[in-house]
Amino acid sequence: MTGRPMPGARAPPGPSATICAKTRLGGDLQKSGLDSVVGCTGIRRLGQSRVQPAAEQAIIHSCNLTRERQEMDQVIQRLRQFRDERNWQQFHNPKDLAMALNIEASELLEAFLWKAPEAADPEKVKEELADVLAYALLLSDAYNFDIEKIILEKIDKNEEKYPVHKAKGTAKKYTEL
Ligand SMILES: [Mg+2]
Repeated sequence: MTGRPMPGARAPPGPSATICAKTRLGGDLQKSGLDSVVGCTGIRRLGQSRVQPAAEQAIIHSCNLTRERQEMDQVIQRLRQFRDERNWQQFHNPKDLAMALNIEASELLEAFLWKAPEAADPEKVKEELADVLAYALLLSDAYNFDIEKIILEKIDKNEEKYPVHKAKGTAKKYTEL
């Protein structure tokens, strides 16, 4: 990594599915007729009320999304901790974070330089990709961006720029479709 290294982040297991269901799925649970939830893998059915498989799958899917979101928050928190323990926030202005991200992206390219794609060392790719992602997260954090929100918004825009009926199977830029 160029300049200041970032820690490898390892998130602990997510919270219980019960918490997940209470925080994210209150409405869905009511609609599905569930009276209580005992976990993503164990949904209690009460009385004659049976949960539709689709609703059950939706609950499990949402629980997984919530867990992933919390794991990502823990990654960001660990990056902040690594930075702050070293008093490096003073160097982490948006301009320098963007530059560092770009330099790390170049180091990622270096893993592929002068060789066939399959000849790149996966360990080198993994390390440089981790650096790129770490700086992307720090830059996003500097602006208080909601990572999930900004990516989903960008996908929405790209779906408009690259409608399936025009973009399917072609690598052309949207201006050439
Ligand atoms: Mg690097």
